[in-house]
Amino acid sequence: MQAISGGLRVKPAPFVRHVPKTLDEAVRILSRVAAQDGRVLAGGQSLVPIMAFRLAKPAHLVDINEIEALGRIANDGRTLRIGALVRHAAFHKSVVDNPLGRLLAVVARSIAHYPIRMRGTFCGSLAHADPAAEWCLVATTLDASMVAVSTRGERAIAAKDFFTGIMSTALAENELLSEVRLPLLANDTKFGFNEFSRRAGDFAMSAALVTFRLRNGTIVDARVGVGGAEPFPRRIAQAEAALNGQAPSDAVFRAAAEAAAATVDAMEDHQTSADYRRDLVRAVVRRALEQAAQ
Ligand SMILES: Cc1cc2nc3c(=O)[nH]c(=O)nc-3n(C[C@H](O)[C@H](O)[C@H](O)COP(=O)(O)OP(=O)(O)OC[C@H]3O[C@@H](n4cnc5c(N)ncnc54)[C@H](O)[C@@H]3O)c2cc1C
Repeated sequence: MQAISGGLRVKPAPFVRHVPKTLDEAVRILSRVAAQDGRVLAGGQSLVPIMAFRLAKPAHLVDINEIEALGRIANDGRTLRIGALVRHAAFHKSVVDNPLGRLLAVVARSIAHYPIRMRGTFCGSLAHADPAAEWCLVATTLDASMVAVSTRGERAIAAKDFFTGIMSTALAENELLSEVRLPLLANDTKFGFNEFSRRAGDFAMSAALVTFRLRNGTIVDARVGVGGAEPFPRRIAQAEAALNGQAPSDAVFRAAAEAAAATVDAMEDHQTSADYRRDLVRAVVRRALEQAAQ
């Protein structure tokens, strides 16, 4: 335990840093300090900047960086299990001989900048739940399962129930996200990813991830996920319906993109209007579909 106080002239408000060596120890500490806005510290790439601005003033940080067991990626034959300390950069190369490995490598390149990818974690990104975070889009589109651990035990939360609002999740304040499980993809899965941001490395203003398979020349098992447009990413059933049973073509892709644009309740913010964001959804979905079909 290490006390960091205002007397040290650091930017954040005073806090106590705990450095557990095991997951059990971490959840025990978290259960004790959660009520005093105790927080998990993973890569620190989101939490530390907001602490420096004093937008967050946690009295305790449970720093999980020395829990070796959380740094593992495992393939159990059905799912890829990604531990809480696996950094974005782990996915620069394919981590599994499956279309999922290639998909993750394509998406990883769009997350922030290289130094941030070296520290930031997959699970930290899910817990932080920025509407435009690429891993949140991946988890939603592929129906991931999140494993939450507390002193009461472990529970799995489906991605569709995990994100509850802008930067809000179903995690209780005393729960640690220990692992995310992503289903491996069928070998013939095609995928495409596209996002739009004003500058390279910025959060996307809209992003789309699509996957589908072809059976006798027609699309089956279509998934269309959209992020950055609404408070949290989601699959767009109307766009998927526009694809399934159709042969891939420019007209079909445009119809699916139109369905996505018509369905989203696009956010408005300091960057852009809802109408413009809706146009972006149309564009990123169409481009992701074109990429998948190549
Ligand atoms: C300039 C800049 C640009 C960025 N651009 C992008 C981008 O384009 N796309 C993108 O996705 N991200 C972007 N990020 C954010 C980056 O990806 C972060 O790494 C990520 O959001 C959080 O991961 P972390 O491990 O750093 O979490 P931390 O900063 O350590 O924690 C973030 C929050 O999640 C909680 N948390 C972390 N891990 C856990 C856990 N295992 N269990 C429970 N709670 C947990 C923390 O308590 C905290 O509230 C950017 C960041 C910066 C500074």
